[in-house]
Amino acid sequence: MSTSETTTAPGDIRPRLRWGVPAYVLLVLAAMAIAIVVPKTGYVLNISLQATTYAIAVLGLTIVLGLCGQINLAQAAFFGLGAYAVGLGQTHYGVNFWVCLLIGTCVAAGFGALLGASTLRLGGHYLAMVTISFQQIVTLVLINWIPVTNGPDGVRAIPRPGFLSDGSIYLAFCIAALGTLGFLVWHLRDTRLGRAMRAVRDNELAAGVAGIDVYRTKVTAFALSAILGGIGGGLFAGGFSYVSPDQFSFAESVVFLTMVLLGGVASPIGAVIGTGLLILIPEWLRFLKSIPGLYLAIYGAAVILIVVFMPDGIWGYLRGLLDRFKRAVLPTRTSAALQLSGGGQGSETVLEVRGLSKHFGGLKAVDEVDLTIRRGGVHALIGPNGSGKTTTLNVLSGLYKATAGSIVLNGQDITGLPPHARTRAGLGRTFQNIRLWRSMTALENVMVGAERPGSPAGNDPAALAERARAALAFVELEDRADEVVSSFSYGHQRAVEIARALAGDPVLLLLDEPGAGLNSSEKVELRDLLKRISARGLTILIIDHDMTLVSEVAQHITVLNFGRRIADGYSADVLKHPDVIAAYLGTGPDAAA
Ligand code: ADP
Ligand code: MG
Repeated sequence: MSTSETTTAPGDIRPRLRWGVPAYVLLVLAAMAIAIVVPKTGYVLNISLQATTYAIAVLGLTIVLGLCGQINLAQAAFFGLGAYAVGLGQTHYGVNFWVCLLIGTCVAAGFGALLGASTLRLGGHYLAMVTISFQQIVTLVLINWIPVTNGPDGVRAIPRPGFLSDGSIYLAFCIAALGTLGFLVWHLRDTRLGRAMRAVRDNELAAGVAGIDVYRTKVTAFALSAILGGIGGGLFAGGFSYVSPDQFSFAESVVFLTMVLLGGVASPIGAVIGTGLLILIPEWLRFLKSIPGLYLAIYGAAVILIVVFMPDGIWGYLRGLLDRFKRAVLPTRTSAALQLSGGGQGSETVLEVRGLSKHFGGLKAVDEVDLTIRRGGVHALIGPNGSGKTTTLNVLSGLYKATAGSIVLNGQDITGLPPHARTRAGLGRTFQNIRLWRSMTALENVMVGAERPGSPAGNDPAALAERARAALAFVELEDRADEVVSSFSYGHQRAVEIARALAGDPVLLLLDEPGAGLNSSEKVELRDLLKRISARGLTILIIDHDMTLVSEVAQHITVLNFGRRIADGYSADVLKHPDVIAAYLGTGPDAAA
């Protein structure tokens, strides 16, 4: 461990520029001042109002698509809900502007959560179709429910609060709203919820196993996205004093999506850039309108070129350039030693599995397996390829539902729990094919692991980062904490995955072939790491094919063959068992030597 100066506060993940926040506030204030002071035509005012309110809605897509990776083709519908609430609420029912804005936002949030709820069973294309259907339903209701919505005629003469009656002041107010909401979205990324969303986006399965409630995270992302859509729409209605159904159609949802993709889906700055450009480009090309078709062709070509040559959007591209200039040497920090309680004291048995079966149709991948794992040791699960080892781990961690049998962890029956609840109960695991969140840094990956409810770090962000650094130090990777894991070697990725599991302070650590794909020096490091973990009193269940590794670290071995347990006991005895030699090594006793 090296000691050196630190420039970051303990809770900080990325070192931030100290003048970042004041500069941002100044920028927003300057934009507001320009909006108020600089004289402008009605045309410029309208364009600016449209861009500002649209950008708020596009911020929602930064959350749901950028952070959480869920497609939402109904943002115009949420925008419309907010706009109609402000329009109808004031003109038909005489309700106060702010109350209308609040109601519209709540209604949008409710429908957003409902749409998010459909992700329980649907993903990918199906989710896209559900959001499109919702969008179409909203459009149809706006057009056809004439007694309430006025139908295609829309709502006219929508007022706004007296002190905002001047267009320029209203614009300044919208800029302030955009600035505040953009700031919140920017910060969301590095909160517990933001990390959970990014984990769900990068690898949903690993997110569940790391203790994240995947479903609730998606519902929240949709609700937040809808809230921003609703606020944007409400302010839009106040700005233009007229709304009609065609302003909130599916085509507009596509425009919103294009805006966020064009600007860069990963950051609120991208949302603002994309919105500004897509509203301005058509205006810049207005002089071409005399030649029919040319304007649309150039507009389309410009969008396609940007998307093709800047796959991460304009802001993603600019960031890449900036990062190449910065490449700052990040300070190494001293980390405290990782505390592992190993589940504390308890009975001698950590895991008690009885009659566990998993059938895939006619295939009995796991067949009535009993397994008792004692506290504080290393227990190996071995067997030929296809003998059901990974399937056993998947049933233990809740990725597969057991066909039969019971699983008791530390005295708690976890047989029916979903993956994240099992992690909360004290399971930690790694995967045969590494499942990290590849676009996140090593530290962020491990922080999500440390966030397990009940883990020693609790809810304090500083303690979380501290614990995550300690876990990285434990696997000797603290120097690379702030690097994105996709740049790591295979061996280092494995180590990060183990650190992520350790950070949650599990009662039992499940490792699926941690030695697979490692070179010989990496294997030596792995063996040392396993011994260090074991020395802290944490119980390990390991699958591995490397008999040298297994015999060196494991005190107990269970052998599977065709899904059935064929041997179980102390390592030395099991490895000598004739059935094991026959089934696992294939040939006579000589091969076992
Ligand atoms: P091991 O990890 O011991 O090599 P697995 O547990 O991966 O073996 O696989 C055990 C058996 O179950 C294999 O025959 C495999 O093809 C089958 N299997 C595993 N997962 C599935 C699945 N999701 N659907 C159908 N069959 C599966
Ligand atoms: Mg396997």
